[in-house]
Amino acid sequence: MGYSFAQRPNNSVYDEDRPIGVAVCADGQDVQRCILWARDTGTPFAIRSGGHNYAGFSTTPGLLISVRAMDRVDVDIANGTVTAQGGANNEDMATALRTYPVAIPSGRCPTVGIARMTLGGGWGFSATRTGLSCDALIRMEMVLADGSRVETSVSREPDLFWALRGGGGGNFGVTTSLTFRLTEVPTLTRFNLVWHPGRQVELMLALQRIQKSHPRTLSTRSKISMTRPGANPSPKELRVECLGIYWGPVDELIEILQPALTLHKPMVQDIRHGDFWWIRDTLMTNDPIGLFDTRNQYVESEISPEGLENLLRWIGKWPGGTAAQRNLALLFAIGGAVRDIPAGATAYPHRRSNFILEMAIHWPVLDKPSVVDAQRSWLRNYHEDMRRFLQPGAYVNFPMRDFKDWASAYYGPNLRRLIDVKRRYDPDRIFRFPQGIPT
Ligand SMILES: Cc1cc2nc3c(=O)[nH]c(=O)nc-3n(C[C@H](O)[C@H](O)[C@H](O)COP(=O)(O)OP(=O)(O)OC[C@H]3O[C@@H](n4cnc5c(N)ncnc54)[C@H](O)[C@@H]3O)c2cc1C
Repeated sequence: MGYSFAQRPNNSVYDEDRPIGVAVCADGQDVQRCILWARDTGTPFAIRSGGHNYAGFSTTPGLLISVRAMDRVDVDIANGTVTAQGGANNEDMATALRTYPVAIPSGRCPTVGIARMTLGGGWGFSATRTGLSCDALIRMEMVLADGSRVETSVSREPDLFWALRGGGGGNFGVTTSLTFRLTEVPTLTRFNLVWHPGRQVELMLALQRIQKSHPRTLSTRSKISMTRPGANPSPKELRVECLGIYWGPVDELIEILQPALTLHKPMVQDIRHGDFWWIRDTLMTNDPIGLFDTRNQYVESEISPEGLENLLRWIGKWPGGTAAQRNLALLFAIGGAVRDIPAGATAYPHRRSNFILEMAIHWPVLDKPSVVDAQRSWLRNYHEDMRRFLQPGAYVNFPMRDFKDWASAYYGPNLRRLIDVKRRYDPDRIFRFPQGIPT
């Protein structure tokens, strides 16, 4: 019992890839048994934590090794650390920490797995102030391809520890435990702004410049969404929204936001000051979910006015479907403290960027295959044409299954060293999936 629930991925596009069985691991020994069995029998396998991989990389026709039940989180306030098992998700972490004024940098979705998010970097609203999730990581335990268990840190298996901070999930072993350094969290201000349709280019430009002027105290996620479904939306049907946090009082934030607030009056201006954990709860989302596809690329300084005009032109060519698209252009701030660390210090290479641009579509089961094909083809072309305004890098945690340049885009100059580490720890490439690091 429970098979259909345990095998179901978050992105139902990959739901048809059914595993022969799901091994629900209770501890590291169970994980060891699974790896040794899969290795000895030559059975393909995939590792599953939260099941949120955009590109279906935690699905397999072989054995699905689920660590989700390994969800314990232990807080050590005296030493300023927190240790989570390999299947714990953002909600498990928040539940353990929320009575203390401390946190780790983590993401917006309660059910995303912490291990996998950290292995790829780990964006969250705290990133501009305290860095990525992987920047707070101080220790990780894993089961390797030969079935052995190792502990990694800057002083133990340092090359592996380097690779685990940005080298993506499922490449070197199965994470069974992670320890993070805690950061104190003061009270802060959260804001949600939604503008009436119009002045999209100027607003997106102003929001980028506001973020750039306050790189460490502010964290924004700005986006363009549709007011109603339907092909070829005009600017009158597209609105700009901005969600974010400011590490300071409300009046200071309002002053900072003036260039955007005076440009075009928002129809929603919801600004609240409060405790970190309460604010964190108001920022949670499980979007995207269901049937979806995404593309992304990093932005070094800002998307230029010409780039934004091009983006709006592409959105105006949306081929249509029954869903009003919420995330046609999402801009996540990922500069500030993330930029403090040199690009080669961890495997996460995108240390010279201010934003990630994500372009995402979702569709309901109502949409016919021809409609979905048109939407997905539009997304590919939109992304391809936007690349000339963006950096070559892309975020490994938002994987694009049919993107040819994935290896250099996800890993940039760190790819060579990642391949060396892969050869050393998994020479037979036991851990493999369509965008796995090659040997
Ligand atoms: C709704 C939603 C919101 C999101 N929000 C954010 C966000 O705020 N910030 C952000 O950075 N990202 C975010 N993401 C992206 C997220 O980080 C990635 O999708 C991540 O892969 C999800 O982790 P998971 O454990 O749920 O993935 P899974 O689908 O379980 O696993 C993905 C892959 O990771 C590997 N893996 C999983 N568990 C382990 C493990 N224990 N050890 C080794 N390898 C493992 C496997 O190879 C697997 O194929 C979001 C995704 C969704 C769907």
